[in-house]
Amino acid sequence: MKVLAINAGSSSLKFMLLAMPSEEVLTSGIVERIGSSVGIFTIKVKGVKLTKEAAIATHKEAVEMLLVSLIENKIIAKVEEIEGVGHRVVQGGEAFKTSVVIDDQVVKVIEDLSDLAPLHNPANLIGINTFRNLLKNVINVAVFDNAFHSTMQPETYLYGTPYQWYRQYKVRKYGFHGTSHQYVSQRASQLLNKKNSKIIVCHLGNGASIAAIKNGQSIDTSMGLTPLEGIPMGTRSGSIDAGIIEYIANKENLSIKAVTDILNKKSGYLGISEYSNDARDIEAKIKQGDPLAKLAFDIQTKRIADYIGAYYLQLGGLDALCFTAGIGENSALIRKGVLNRLKVLKVKWDEDLNSQTRGQETLISTPDSKVKVWVIPTNEEVMIARDVYSLAQKS
Ligand code: ADP
Repeated sequence: MKVLAINAGSSSLKFMLLAMPSEEVLTSGIVERIGSSVGIFTIKVKGVKLTKEAAIATHKEAVEMLLVSLIENKIIAKVEEIEGVGHRVVQGGEAFKTSVVIDDQVVKVIEDLSDLAPLHNPANLIGINTFRNLLKNVINVAVFDNAFHSTMQPETYLYGTPYQWYRQYKVRKYGFHGTSHQYVSQRASQLLNKKNSKIIVCHLGNGASIAAIKNGQSIDTSMGLTPLEGIPMGTRSGSIDAGIIEYIANKENLSIKAVTDILNKKSGYLGISEYSNDARDIEAKIKQGDPLAKLAFDIQTKRIADYIGAYYLQLGGLDALCFTAGIGENSALIRKGVLNRLKVLKVKWDEDLNSQTRGQETLISTPDSKVKVWVIPTNEEVMIARDVYSLAQKS
């Protein structure tokens, strides 16, 4: 069965075509700048990236371009070979605890949840509606970013805010990156070969979150009602004193929306370094001795270690600490910055191995370490395809 894994944003559409259940990747790529006069279509054919620039007015045009390209490049012979499509959906609220087959009712619930994820759910829905219209009779599956965290307990997911906010408006911690946390923790659990496992996953990309996973279930995670909570990220502040919002709104004569925008888009690495949101730029500046870049890095690694400490207590110990996503997989400096703060937990690692590890599954802890430390490349697309395949078998 050939399955497309789709991640639709407001102006982009990432795709991967997989053969299931073998999980062989047939192709992958991205359509960018949908809606602008110069769209960019990139597809990998036999390991080579092909790029085409063209006006791509809508997501429908982007998907049509993708389908034509799959045939032109002989990845499939006809569109009917695609038997399932899996869609990443950021916010499933409390409605979905697992992935589901999409029907009109599911679309309606995702629409209703757009209030909670105004930047993401509407874009995800455009992807869903486009595929449902273009590929008739194909199973479409929604895979929710927060579903894996639905096992959190009320004492963890509720804030110390009026209960009525939860009752009436569903204000609570939902968490995100669930598909990635699930994939990486399942892999770590396999590697540990242990029945009852205590695992912490650090998903460190431009967006970043940490999760505590006990016996395969998420018990806590750093992102909250929105992806703004938690550790400082590329452009997001992470957790702050909520009192700062009114204080800065008054000082700078800004609306709450404008301040929130700054917390989402102009904070984190970018806000502190006053230079860039990209970890590679921050590292390059640190090497040049830039104090603000170093501070941005130190603020982040300190907060990551704080979460690890808190989750260590919640888990009642720790078998494995995993680093994943763009920064976690590639940045030896960040891993070192975090690991240096964990000595009290008797975490020991191999400096050389850490420096050499880039995007490869690697055990970087030493045999005498109390905690195994792994770099595990994430694979959200394969998780999406697995869910499509398994739901297709049942339907
Ligand atoms: P997202 O999916 O949240 O956009 P990614 O998981 O793709 O983010 O991660 C992007 C981040 O990974 C960027 O900050 C980028 O600088 C960082 N990154 C990628 N490659 C490297 C590298 N070789 N060294 C350090 N950081 C890297």
